[in-house]
Amino acid sequence: MNMKHYDLMIMGMGPAGLSAALYARRQGLDTIVFGDIPGGILYMLDNLTDFPGFPDGISGTQFGMLAFQQAQAQGAVFPMAKLEKLRFNDTLFTGTDTDERQYTAPAAIIATGRSPKKISKIKDNLKGVHFCSVCDGPLYRNQGAVLAVIGGDKIAAQHALTLSKVAAKVYLVCRDRAFEMPAIYESQLKEHPNIILMRETEMIGIKGSDQVEALIVTTKEGDKQEIAIDGVFQAAGWRPNTQALEIPVETASDGYLKTDKNLMTAHTGLFAAGDVRDTDMFGVLTACADGARAAQYVAEFLQQR
Ligand SMILES: Cc1cc2nc3c(=O)[nH]c(=O)nc-3n(C[C@H](O)[C@H](O)[C@H](O)COP(=O)(O)OP(=O)(O)OC[C@H]3O[C@@H](n4cnc5c(N)ncnc54)[C@H](O)[C@@H]3O)c2cc1C
Repeated sequence: MNMKHYDLMIMGMGPAGLSAALYARRQGLDTIVFGDIPGGILYMLDNLTDFPGFPDGISGTQFGMLAFQQAQAQGAVFPMAKLEKLRFNDTLFTGTDTDERQYTAPAAIIATGRSPKKISKIKDNLKGVHFCSVCDGPLYRNQGAVLAVIGGDKIAAQHALTLSKVAAKVYLVCRDRAFEMPAIYESQLKEHPNIILMRETEMIGIKGSDQVEALIVTTKEGDKQEIAIDGVFQAAGWRPNTQALEIPVETASDGYLKTDKNLMTAHTGLFAAGDVRDTDMFGVLTACADGARAAQYVAEFLQQR
């Protein structure tokens, strides 16, 4: 099989992967980036308002597309396919993409982000169950719909804010007493009279055989309530995207990749950046910074070899 060789393989085309590609190219590294969506999970983000330089915000898709074009203009190669497996043989990383093409490189950066977890109490085959408010929210436009978001972090807040533009009412259901989001999101949520905040409330089931009909919730005191809804958006919990990594590395208990101060994992030459890393702050800005730093450390690592 005809294998293509690069200095660096990057898995993931989100903010971390694209920033890594840009910085790697500026270091003169032959760089290939795997993934199928420019901007990674940013397509789910209606308006990015906490990245400096965009005082009125920018749509996630637009930000992702610009970052993609910038890395491409610097000469990074994008086969537009995900890596199905990443292995290590003797001195080189070997990647196999979803079209079964193979690639090798002496260094790799994992920037595969994380995915929302399915809530086990919600059947996926029900109509009206969603993960992405930007993609699926418009389905409810002008219908006087009542929607629910399950979760309590800034991503759940973003979903509620996005959906408040298309729905008559949006319930934000959070199990904990306090939301886990910067204060600005809480005040924005409160500015929307059609967003109803439900703290210390647990979703215990969904009623409906083909289509979501109602949310069944219980308070901490055990008071059960049934709320008629047309759709539910899941934003409660995440898992790192590490399924394609066939190299044993140290992880935190929840599966996120542990790195040293140079963003290298326990496997020499294998770096991690962005949300897939065991980080203390998940977000676009920190993912970009991780990508830039990882590329810099890859260049130093390759020079020392
Ligand atoms: C609804 C929503 C709202 C948000 N709002 C904000 C916000 O306001 N501000 C903020 O800073 N952050 C926000 N975030 C979080 C932000 O989007 C992430 O922190 C950021 O995108 C992480 O970047 P990343 O590059 O690490 O990962 P990602 O953006 O997740 O990109 C990783 C990509 O790699 C892909 N991938 C997975 N496996 C493979 C493989 N084997 N091969 C190749 N590619 C693979 C994934 O499918 C994904 O496309 C929001 C997220 C969501 C979902």
